[in-house]
Amino acid sequence: MLEKLKKEVCELNKQLVKNQLVMWTSGNVSARDPQTGLIVIKPSGVLFDELTPDKMVVVNLEGEVIEGTLKPSVDTASHLYVYKYKKDVNGIVHTHSPYATSFAVRGEPLPIYTTTSAAVFGKEIPVSDFAYIGEEEIGQQIVEKIGDSPAILLRSHGIFTVAKDALSAVKYAVVLEETAQVVHLSLLRGNIKPLPSDVIEKGFDIYKKTYGQ
Ligand SMILES: [Zn+2]
Repeated sequence: MLEKLKKEVCELNKQLVKNQLVMWTSGNVSARDPQTGLIVIKPSGVLFDELTPDKMVVVNLEGEVIEGTLKPSVDTASHLYVYKYKKDVNGIVHTHSPYATSFAVRGEPLPIYTTTSAAVFGKEIPVSDFAYIGEEEIGQQIVEKIGDSPAILLRSHGIFTVAKDALSAVKYAVVLEETAQVVHLSLLRGNIKPLPSDVIEKGFDIYKKTYGQ
């Protein structure tokens, strides 16, 4: 079942490695099939190199495994909570990408300093309170704190991005890490000021109207 989506989720999990957002087995991509409402997610503790579409796990919103022989990601309950309360979200990414996570460790939102982050995010990246892994606590923090941002820093842990599909969620995770790295490097050279809000709004608007094919 959901062969196409399993292939896509498998490939997008590998994209996390290619974009240097994950190490070893941490991090995961999931996607919801809009027709059935079922979710495809990475199996727990499997190396990214060893992922194949048939190793992806299909679960329902209640967390029951519908198809797959492996245990789903330890973050499954967090993903499911977000899917339950954010009906327009059909793709979620979680990583511990180091530059963005360094802001999460500090418990600071990531302001918009670059035209790219203005265009893609349109507002500063919020930060959650601390939450334990394994249950719904992280999902609750995401739903409570993310607002209409596609990304959130998870206090002392990592990042989550949400989108209309898994590919877009991966894109947000890539841009977030790139942004955090640039901001980190700029901060090393002294104080910097975020872009003014009207510049951010205009950049966000232009990008929405003009970017892509
Ligand atoms: Zn994590």
